[in-house]
Amino acid sequence: MAVESWDYSVFWKEAMNRIRQEVTDQEWIMWFNNIKYDSSGSSKINICVPSSFYRDQIKQRYLSSMEEHLFSLAGNRIAVDFVVKPAKKSSSQNKATSAPPVSVEAKKKKPHTQLRADYRFENFVVGENNSFAANAAYAIAKNPGTAYNPCLVYGGVGLGKTHLIQSIGNIVYQESDKKVSYITAETFTNDFIQSIKDKTTHRFKSKYRSVDVLLIDDIHFLQNKIETQEELFHTFNALYESNKQMVFTCDRPVSELKHLSDRLRSRFERGLNVDLQPPDFETRFAILKQKIEVKNVTIPDEVIDLVCRNITTNVRDLEASLTKLIAYSDLVNKNVTLEVAKAQLKDVFSNPRQSNITIEMIQRVVADYFALSVGELKGKKRTKAIAFPRQVAMYITREITEYSTTEVGLEFGGRDHTTVMHACQRVESRMKTDPTLEPTINHLIRATKEYGTKA
Ligand code: ADP
Ligand code: MG
Repeated sequence: MAVESWDYSVFWKEAMNRIRQEVTDQEWIMWFNNIKYDSSGSSKINICVPSSFYRDQIKQRYLSSMEEHLFSLAGNRIAVDFVVKPAKKSSSQNKATSAPPVSVEAKKKKPHTQLRADYRFENFVVGENNSFAANAAYAIAKNPGTAYNPCLVYGGVGLGKTHLIQSIGNIVYQESDKKVSYITAETFTNDFIQSIKDKTTHRFKSKYRSVDVLLIDDIHFLQNKIETQEELFHTFNALYESNKQMVFTCDRPVSELKHLSDRLRSRFERGLNVDLQPPDFETRFAILKQKIEVKNVTIPDEVIDLVCRNITTNVRDLEASLTKLIAYSDLVNKNVTLEVAKAQLKDVFSNPRQSNITIEMIQRVVADYFALSVGELKGKKRTKAIAFPRQVAMYITREITEYSTTEVGLEFGGRDHTTVMHACQRVESRMKTDPTLEPTINHLIRATKEYGTKA
């Protein structure tokens, strides 16, 4: 009796080649870089995904297309099954999902003068909030100037923009002979102005046009800096034409920058734009665990849990709390217990920025108030009876949370950030003419906060 064995890996490979032609670069990096053929069974293929988040998203987006391609290649139905296998956790690291693989660096050069040596991919915890940006950054670091050029990483303060962009620099610098330059937009501006004063602009120009990888941090600083924008525009074109890699960071989507020349804006928007979102609880926990490990201190999990539940804004705030606890325990020579942590972080936790209000809570409260369903509030209909409550909910979200207009738009049925901006303006102008609106909004804000304490 023959033992049946199946191997559909060839079909899978070809199906992936075909899908690669159908999806955008962004989709490919986001969803396909992280999945792997595992094994075949009777009329089915098992595919590894790093988390249930990936499984659900990929199923929803691509399962039917995957199965169609397999059908046309194999001539019979092959089902695709997803197996969630978190990327291997080394004993020393607890990651929310997989970090991009990191090669063993051959010979270490001495540290790059503009880059922090600890801003490396190995130290960057990857979660759902940042995996797209992290994967893109890693791909760029491995193949600068080829795939995603330019790349712009945007996101709020303390979410890891500088860490990521410098990680690219560190890899390229360590693993190749390419010339890497990292600079903040502020320094770039100041240097440029100085070069005008010193009449050395030619030197300034050739300095930046002779690099292989140009990393410019915090380009929002360029707003209103007309001459520097002009200079950067020309630098951009020179580098772009010779296929040199450029990576920029910004604290918001480029479309929300003001006082930026249209032609420079369109350069930034070219290539790949990826965002960093605030980390979820699981990722915050993994990040703190990792920082604690590096600092070689002992802090009980219940303390980490307390900090992660209360600090929801960004990684910098998380780190600041940890630093405070460690400093205290060093100074008074006491262990960090739950009581110590609560007492020491009382003020940090009561900061209004650190609320646990989610967009979903706001949507529920506003929908209830206007006797709508949350589905209607997020849905497509634009009748007045729904559009106005929707605008109010968006306005409240912007008022009492830290979410950006882009994030708010996504949570309201995938709307554009300009829609959110427009909604907020509408509500503001209506408040001026309708005296009942402000009290209503205040009532809704209070109701949301109450809801938040109950949830
Ligand atoms: P930004 O430039 O966006 O304001 P930074 O890159 O300076 O933020 O990050 C703030 C701090 O948080 C840094 O110390 C950085 O190492 C840390 N950090 C941010 N994101 C992560 C992450 N995903 N994993 C580990 N550390 C992180
Ligand atoms: Mg920064």
